[in-house]
Amino acid sequence: MRPAALTAALLSLIVSGSASGQGAAPTYQPGIDVRNYDVGITLPDTGSFILGDVTIALRRSAGIARLTLDLVDALNVRRVEVGGRVVSAPHVNNTIDVPLDGSDDSVNVRVVYDGVVRDGLVVQKDAKGRWTWFGDNWPDRARQWLPTVDHPSDKATVSWRITAPAERTVVANGEQAGTRPFTVNGKKLRETRWRESRPVPTYVMVLAAGPLERFDIRENDCHYGDLGQCVRQSVYVMPENRKWLPGVFLSVGPIVSLFERLIGPFPYEKLAHLQSSTRFGGMENASNIFYDGKLFPTQSVKDGLIAHETAHQWFGDAVTEREWSHVWLSEGFATYFAALWTQYIRGDGAYRAEMAGIRTQLLGDKVVATRPVIDSTQTELLALLNTNSYQKGGYILYMLHQQLGDSAFFGAIKSYYKNNRHGTVLSDDLRVELEKTSHQSLRQFFDQWLRRPGVAEPAIGWAFDAESGSVALRVVQKSAYELELPVVVTDAAGTVSRLMVKVPADSLATVPLPGKYSAKPRSITYDPDGRMLARITRL
Ligand SMILES: [Zn+2]
Repeated sequence: MRPAALTAALLSLIVSGSASGQGAAPTYQPGIDVRNYDVGITLPDTGSFILGDVTIALRRSAGIARLTLDLVDALNVRRVEVGGRVVSAPHVNNTIDVPLDGSDDSVNVRVVYDGVVRDGLVVQKDAKGRWTWFGDNWPDRARQWLPTVDHPSDKATVSWRITAPAERTVVANGEQAGTRPFTVNGKKLRETRWRESRPVPTYVMVLAAGPLERFDIRENDCHYGDLGQCVRQSVYVMPENRKWLPGVFLSVGPIVSLFERLIGPFPYEKLAHLQSSTRFGGMENASNIFYDGKLFPTQSVKDGLIAHETAHQWFGDAVTEREWSHVWLSEGFATYFAALWTQYIRGDGAYRAEMAGIRTQLLGDKVVATRPVIDSTQTELLALLNTNSYQKGGYILYMLHQQLGDSAFFGAIKSYYKNNRHGTVLSDDLRVELEKTSHQSLRQFFDQWLRRPGVAEPAIGWAFDAESGSVALRVVQKSAYELELPVVVTDAAGTVSRLMVKVPADSLATVPLPGKYSAKPRSITYDPDGRMLARITRL
């Protein structure tokens, strides 16, 4: 997502149980793997009262006798069934403690509940008096309205059965699986079904309901997603905003085409872009991007925001960080792929300028200076929406791209995506793919940029040895980084040559420049284009 304003980052949420562990198995509740949520939900025509009926299909490991579902205490659990039998399942401390009797490894747990939702599903009446309902779960607010194993390490498919007044447009993840109109006490209602057949994290499981109007994006060529079907894109807005469509949403086709070329087929059944009440500027719900509704009346949605949220469909939604501390695998990727969209649509100069702006920001940023990107001690999840996860993460990908070149970089991105799509990852899964295509170890690179606060701060001098005709750099570093340092030498005759020099991760290093010089060079400059994430001083 992209934060709407600083206020979003200041909102505090208490995190429950940060996961730790290795391997692709869910880590939040060891031994429990939710496969599918079958969500039935009834939205009355006014107010925030909902009726919920959710069946959770899960697999459990041998010996696992209890399931903990996250659901806030403010909602009333009316009944819990395990395998069709009613059980006693205490609902305290925002969790439901469900006994799993029997020995089957596959279990269905049904939770029937109701109550007034206060968060997660945002229920609002707008200035014109129209009720709207929008899910807004990031990071762990699914539990505000859905009984779930509410952690990104446990992805699942989801089916929606949403009952709402007949005149309301209802959209959810995946593809529409039918509608059924019916009447109760003279009131016209409609049940709308949607089905997401790809496992997604709970933080992107959402519905939207309101007087939304759909605008289909016409495209010359259809995108074939990884289900082998045509991927349709639509925009849903409040009626008064339909007149200016498609507007900026003309870019959604080319954005998906570009990312398909760079990454792989689009992961989901459709892609909807919705005017919504998300607290973020944009939120990458799977197959359902929600944008800040306030951007629409002034036509302020930018293609950079669309590109960022669209990139998340691959990175974040289809390939999901298994632990929150690796959230740069979502936000850094969305930041960098939005910059690649800039390069595609506005040229190399605009792309370099975008990255230079990010670099300037990073060199002066307090969070970057004091905390690492993989920040496992940060338990306040909203605080992870910071310069490290977004800009530094994006800049790390930019440095890898420059250092390894197009072929090795995009080759690794493609295999990282393909091997992990619809699963979960940690940063080392990316490193392994980059090492395969580049045939070099990137352990030091990943450690220094992701697990250390700050940026490189080398002090560099040079000396000319007249006898041998050689030039050597002397590099002093307090926090030692291994660097691929661009060096520009202007020799005594005024000839300029550009060199790439590998500086080892040592506190004191002498690095000979390649070649011989007949006289002392006139000048030597380091990283003249300012591409390295480094503050360089002269010795
Ligand atoms: Zn984002």
